[in-house]
Amino acid sequence: MTRIDLHRHLDGNIRLQTILELADKNGIVLPARDPDSLRPHVTISSPQPGLTDFLEKFRWPIAVLATPDDCRRVARENVEDAFRERLDHVELRFSPVFMASANGMGPAAVVEAVVDGARAGSREFGVPVTLIGVLSRTFGAETCFRELDALLGFRDRIAALDLAGDEAGFPARLFEPHFRKARNTGWRITIHAGEAAGPESIREAIDLLGAERIGHGTRAVEDPALMDELAEKEIGIESCLTSNVQTSAVPSYAAHPLRRFLEHGILATINTDDPAISGITFDHEIDIAAPEAGLTPELVALAMKNAERIAWRDGCLK
Ligand SMILES: [Zn+2]
Repeated sequence: MTRIDLHRHLDGNIRLQTILELADKNGIVLPARDPDSLRPHVTISSPQPGLTDFLEKFRWPIAVLATPDDCRRVARENVEDAFRERLDHVELRFSPVFMASANGMGPAAVVEAVVDGARAGSREFGVPVTLIGVLSRTFGAETCFRELDALLGFRDRIAALDLAGDEAGFPARLFEPHFRKARNTGWRITIHAGEAAGPESIREAIDLLGAERIGHGTRAVEDPALMDELAEKEIGIESCLTSNVQTSAVPSYAAHPLRRFLEHGILATINTDDPAISGITFDHEIDIAAPEAGLTPELVALAMKNAERIAWRDGCLK
């Protein structure tokens, strides 16, 4: 079986040890100085009331990023992690404005460093990497234009554009011009939708932003016509089982709609989202989360086949 993770935030997957070392180097005071005491500050151990509470855990991993070299290191280590997890292909996404937010780096310098680190990692470890730029909707439409411009400076190294952050507070329609520009550039489109807002948010992502894949999309199950449309139009769903339990997008693994997506013929897949923040690996999602969510080995195999089908391998970093 080909092992592909299509939905992994490299800025949500910063190693504990790296957070400690970067804090030391950059003179940033963390709430704890050893891995075990720091872990509860940067890793989720029980479900949070909502997505924004989940996002709180990003505070310290982002706070230690102070120079482009730090971003380069994080990107390279993400590819090394993918190699250690025996991934055959990984699609890594990142938000340059978010990564730059704590210490006033320029977003363009962040993009350059991430591209450089991911390429170096891909060559070193032999793992094909597709990079996806993320616009952090929580910063608002204006800042997202700056973020988009920074990403467009490396348009040939980046394959796709995504929209993440506070879905309920910042609906897709605010970002129509950004995604029109991205499509005109030839980028593919994936959108976080139907995680913290309802099925109408998924429709907006498809109709207004041109989404070819949907991140999470859990609430699609509330709308049978939308379920049909996702299957017919072959719009992929990037499911992230543990993340969805931790953000309370679903109440439990057993209540997760992934099995229903697969049985409905939707090109749904299994992904990690933010492995370090969630305290998980790809194997955890395949071996533990997926069976808990009611997937038979056949359905797990189908999800992995779907990932092969909807992966953007043409956009791999060279
Ligand atoms: Zn995500």
